[in-house]
Amino acid sequence: MHDPDCLFCGIVKGDVPATVIYEDERTLAFMDISPATRGHCLVVPKAHAADIVAADPEAVAACSRTAQILADRALGRLGADGAAVVSFCRAAAGQTVFHLHFHVVPRYDGDGLELPWIPQPGDPGDIAAAAKELI
Ligand code: AMP
Ligand code: ZN
Repeated sequence: MHDPDCLFCGIVKGDVPATVIYEDERTLAFMDISPATRGHCLVVPKAHAADIVAADPEAVAACSRTAQILADRALGRLGADGAAVVSFCRAAAGQTVFHLHFHVVPRYDGDGLELPWIPQPGDPGDIAAAAKELI
């Protein structure tokens, strides 16, 4: 179920700190440490799978549902005008952490974000404040 060398498995197990905003039987969501926009979070299956192709289809479906919930919260609670839900599959697509994850990136009219974004470490206080609104 868990890969001992996997960063996101470490977060699922609670061994690696993260700002968790959502959890259910199959999925966990936590704030991205380098947010592309305010409220950027990641949805992962609890069971390790390298990417969207390798994962159990039911895990992909469960992650999609969690991403839907968090995109809805981004619109309703953060005042986002839209949300980009995206999963990069393998290094050629820009994947850097090889445990399936869906980015939920709130989009704000005029935010100027260009995809794919270049990750920059976020301010921990700002991330925590956005997390409070998403929980
Ligand atoms: P990807 O390039 O699609 O594999 O995205 C990996 C994402 O994980 C990036 O947006 C990183 O900012 C994010 N990330 C890496 N390490 C952590 C961590 N410890 N906690 C939260 N997010 C992380
Ligand atoms: Zn993993």
